[in-house]
Amino acid sequence: MSDCLFCKIVAGEIPSKKVYEDELCYAFYDIDPQAPTHFLVIPKAHIRSVSQVDQTNAAVVGHIFSVIARLSKELGLESYRVVSNIGDQAGQSVLHLHFHVLSGRDMTWPPG
Ligand code: 5GP
Ligand code: ZN
Repeated sequence: MSDCLFCKIVAGEIPSKKVYEDELCYAFYDIDPQAPTHFLVIPKAHIRSVSQVDQTNAAVVGHIFSVIARLSKELGLESYRVVSNIGDQAGQSVLHLHFHVLSGRDMTWPPG
């Protein structure tokens, strides 16, 4: 989608600090980290949020979780949190599906 920030990051039109990339997904460090380690994993294809996941595109979500598991091992993360915000009230600010991976500090539950 031409006016989507994360589509522009995937296309390399906006610079980012890459963690990992393959044909289906892209992982990069968050510009405003909320934990000592904070990166985002996104599908290369534009999907608005978890609310737009269906039978036609769900495979990429499974793939992303396998990538998160592998990257977290490679980065030596022993404990981490995976978060996806959906919609305004949950705090979604970029309308391209993304999974936050946060690690390296104590976290509270429930989230604020
Ligand atoms: P959301 O608020 O939608 O759950 O998460 C969007 C995330 O994208 C935020 O944590 C925000 O800091 C991050 N972000 C926004 N713009 C950029 C950018 O240009 N580059 C990077 N690396 N992260 C961004
Ligand atoms: Zn997009």
